Amino acid sequence: MKTKAVVALLVALLVVVSGCIGGGTQEKSTPSATSQPHEQSETQTTSSAPTNTQREAQDQTNLKTVNFSELFSKVIQLSLNPTVIEKGNLTIEYDGKRIHGRYDFVISNLSESVFYLGAMGLPDDPTALILNVSIEGTPLNLSRLKGYRAGSEEVYGTRIKPSYLIVYEIPVDSSKSSIKGTITYSLKYPLFLDDFWQYAGSPIMGFSITNSKSFGLNLTYSLPEGYSLVIPGYGVLTGSGRISGDRLMDSLHCSFIRRGEIVSEKFSVSGINVTVYLASSQYVPEGWNKTIALIKQAIGLYYNITGVRPVNSTYIVFNPDFSRSFAPEPEMGIIIIGGRSNIRILYERKPNSLPHELAHLWFAGYVGESPFNEGFATYFETLAIQRFTPWGKLYLKRQEDNIEKYGTISINEAYKLTETGQHALNMSVSVVIYQKVNFFLRSLQYLLGDETFSKGIHTLLERCHGKEYTLTDIQKSFEKASGKDLDWFFDEWINSIALPDYKVTQLKISENGGGYNLTFTITDANNFTMPVPIRIYLENGEYLDERIWVNGTATVSLELPGKPVKIVIDPEEVMANVNRESRVNDVAVKVD
Ligand SMILES: [Zn+2]
Repeated sequence: MKTKAVVALLVALLVVVSGCIGGGTQEKSTPSATSQPHEQSETQTTSSAPTNTQREAQDQTNLKTVNFSELFSKVIQLSLNPTVIEKGNLTIEYDGKRIHGRYDFVISNLSESVFYLGAMGLPDDPTALILNVSIEGTPLNLSRLKGYRAGSEEVYGTRIKPSYLIVYEIPVDSSKSSIKGTITYSLKYPLFLDDFWQYAGSPIMGFSITNSKSFGLNLTYSLPEGYSLVIPGYGVLTGSGRISGDRLMDSLHCSFIRRGEIVSEKFSVSGINVTVYLASSQYVPEGWNKTIALIKQAIGLYYNITGVRPVNSTYIVFNPDFSRSFAPEPEMGIIIIGGRSNIRILYERKPNSLPHELAHLWFAGYVGESPFNEGFATYFETLAIQRFTPWGKLYLKRQEDNIEKYGTISINEAYKLTETGQHALNMSVSVVIYQKVNFFLRSLQYLLGDETFSKGIHTLLERCHGKEYTLTDIQKSFEKASGKDLDWFFDEWINSIALPDYKVTQLKISENGGGYNLTFTITDANNFTMPVPIRIYLENGEYLDERIWVNGTATVSLELPGKPVKIVIDPEEVMANVNRESRVNDVAVKVD
């Protein structure tokens, strides 16, 4: 299955809980101690006074009001399994405040007696989107249609601008080979919703046929003087005109309109043609230069490690309609970076968004669908952050803290919950699927060595090019690359919620001629089998790195050229483990 921009781009691949790096704690996606999974909060509010969303839902008597998580799950399943093919002509006129549009469409390949139309709205602004639908020339009374409605008011325990999504069930005669329909709409633009899944279809449409694959669109557009429409793959459009394309609807879901010039840059790196778009209101020279440099560095790094060029061209859109980033069409090379802030603030507070989404060109664009794409993207993103920005150490620490706090389910359990989109709503699923899988891969790299690990990545990319893949594919690829059985390693990291919990005991130091003998025991309360990196700092500030196999416990005996003063376990953060600090016989011990 391919990722498809749908109602609210719900199956997009995004950066969920990485949080901001340079900007303190003010960003919405930074986990806090009081964060609750979405569904729990829904339950808590249902017994209190009706919210705006619930009051308005009473008008729509045939719509079943469900919680957002439930509708989200339904939409993901509909959009990942498109049953109808959609072609159409869309005309949009923007007047600087509203988009007035008309969409004439034909859907074919009907197998059911309904198709699904998703639409969005604001509970406190009934005129945000005004929609009229007719099928085969007969206008539909939308308030009579069956379907589902859900309000969205928070994510990870943080309040967001309230919005709602509706999925209408539109009855059709499935004995016909195709059905014609017309949707006319008037949409307030821009709406500035807080999260990407609050938009249905696209910020410039507000609706989409949920269970369809759009193949063939003609777009006629008209913009006021001084405005630009950015469509990735089609460029920057002004005035009025007409364009067409088989995948134009997918591109349109990633588009935006803004007043003023669009800052754009084109270059080639590792054989990939890159085009970057930014609204001029968000342009700051220093932030732009650092961002362009990071794009070049990240693509170069990923190409070197993977040995794969996933696309010929990529379009990176800093889209001011979104605050979060995602890669809705990675096989088309399209990447959306939430561009609500100016480019300098984006670079400083969320430098991880860009390298994360770029990694999806490989993991989602080159290989097919898998929940593990998020972990691979987080792995590559973290490498880029470590190598090309000053925030590597802080970033790893934050991820490891999240895993200790939220890692309450195993990777295997989280994997199953991604089928219903829970990684975009539930903090535990999200932390495990993004950040714990990242650490799982870092540990695998340390176990196998850099060269064998790269070979395994390359093997996986080629084995699963254009195909969905599973954990078995990952394990087989790394087993093939290393020639080793990795059952034990996958089992202990994938099926357990435990983390290694190391302690140093029985530490003895003795002088030995000009040097010192150091002996100690490492014990892991959770009994993992792992090669453990250990750094010993000497009195003169120098250090030595050792690699010790710990199978529940290990005794270490070292001859050192100077007096040891500090032992750091896992200094480069190759594994997610319980962090602690202590002193043993005057030696500082830090488990990092
Ligand atoms: Zn992602």
